[in-house]
Amino acid sequence: MKKLFSSQDAFEMQAVRSELDALSIPYMVKNEFAGGAIGELPWQDSQQEVWLIDDSWYARASKVIEAIVHKSRNTNNSSEDWRCNACGEENGSAFDVCWQCGAEK
Ligand SMILES: [Zn+2]
Repeated sequence: MKKLFSSQDAFEMQAVRSELDALSIPYMVKNEFAGGAIGELPWQDSQQEVWLIDDSWYARASKVIEAIVHKSRNTNNSSEDWRCNACGEENGSAFDVCWQCGAEK
C-alpha cells in the first residue's frame, strides 16, 4: 500500500477518485469520516487520503493526480476576483483589465 494523494478539497478529491475509477486503478480512501460525528468538527477539517492498493500503479496514478491538481489549481486561480493596483477597484475574474480605470491586472 502506498499513499497517493491527500486533500481537504472535496472537489479535487472527487475528481481524483472518478479518474482512478475510470482507469480501474485499485485504491482505497482513508480518513473519510475523520471529522467524527456531524457537528463535532467542520467537515472541511477531515483530510482525506487516497491509498494505492497495488503499488505497481504508482507511476501511472501519480501522473493522473498531477494533471488533476494542476488543472484544478489553474481553474481556481482564474476564477478569482482581483483588485486593481491602480485604483483599488474590485474586478471579476472575467476582466483582464480594470473595468474602472483600464489598468492591466
Ligand atoms: Zn483600476
